[in-house]
Amino acid sequence: MFSYCPTCTATTIHSENGHRFVCGTCNFEYFHNTASAVAAFIQWEGKLLLTRRARDPGKSQLDLPGGFVDHDESLEQALSREIQEELALKIADWRYFCSRPNTYEYKGVTYKTCDCAFETTLTHKPDMTVAEEEISELIWLVPEDIPLNDIAFPSIRALVEMWIARQQST
Ligand SMILES: [Zn+2]
Repeated sequence: MFSYCPTCTATTIHSENGHRFVCGTCNFEYFHNTASAVAAFIQWEGKLLLTRRARDPGKSQLDLPGGFVDHDESLEQALSREIQEELALKIADWRYFCSRPNTYEYKGVTYKTCDCAFETTLTHKPDMTVAEEEISELIWLVPEDIPLNDIAFPSIRALVEMWIARQQST
């Protein structure tokens, strides 16, 4: 990730695991820590809201609404902000579901994330306006109709698989 130390510009910066970077010249240390990300299970009449991604990574594949957690933000605040930005929908009532590790490649940098899933159940079908630069389509699907192989990220696929298993066991 680094060719030069950001502090002293020496080429002696190295990492053994892609997580901790150390400069052998000036002792600079940087931890490329796991980033928090959130995913929303928005449910209505037994259906799950899926989005189709408008951009890479995973362009034109299915995803859940969500995104990265900003600095100084809780997971719940990140969810509500992302849902407002992506769908123009106001949701504040989130219940924790589960989490999965993920690897996110963007412009040549590998980000390790922990994708945290929360759920909410709507009593009526919501009016939504999508952020077209991020989402090309919104799809409501019952568990048996969700095409798992069409989901962009393995972590999100694993979360949706867990959701389907739970829906089908109740
Ligand atoms: Zn240095």
